[in-house]
Amino acid sequence: MKDVRDYIRTIVDFPHEGILFRDVTTLFADPRGFRMAIDQLLHPYAGVRFDKVVGLEARGFILGGAVAHQLSAGFVPIRKKGKLPGAVIAEEYQLEYGEAVVEIHDDAIEPGQKILLVDDLLATGGTAEAGIRLVERLGGEIIGCAFIVDLPELGGRKRLEALGMDVHALCA
Ligand code: AMP
Repeated sequence: MKDVRDYIRTIVDFPHEGILFRDVTTLFADPRGFRMAIDQLLHPYAGVRFDKVVGLEARGFILGGAVAHQLSAGFVPIRKKGKLPGAVIAEEYQLEYGEAVVEIHDDAIEPGQKILLVDDLLATGGTAEAGIRLVERLGGEIIGCAFIVDLPELGGRKRLEALGMDVHALCA
């Protein structure tokens, strides 16, 4: 039987030389693969009640919508700077070259709400950490951070665990 990792394609040198891009669109496109991924992402949280699922742009939206539906939770997007129409709060983080800014609507989470953060892939953890900071600034309580792929050699898991996060990933 096929595993989640069998549905993920690796594209060499995308978006630039030296990067092995883990392309989860082939996982999302397969009915069995996509269902398996959502079921496995939720597996550790059986019986846990979440108020909101927070998804990181852009593949975290695809996962987050499906996960939120399954949990009967709301969905909240964290987007790149300038994309959200309402009042936002922002966090800056370091990229390999330069900085990036992510934003969340300032009324998207109420203090004390239980949150599941999702994205397709954890690399250095910079994107997820910025997302965590946004959620925590709004008073949300992050119960878990769930990813399809973890690239442990890039240190993201250690970085998030050092922040006290519970990290769940389906494959490396
Ligand atoms: P990082 O902030 O370094 O943990 O990078 C995570 C974000 O960048 C996620 O939103 C991923 O979708 C994307 N990303 C980073 N490295 C890769 C990779 N090798 N393949 C696919 N996506 C990646």
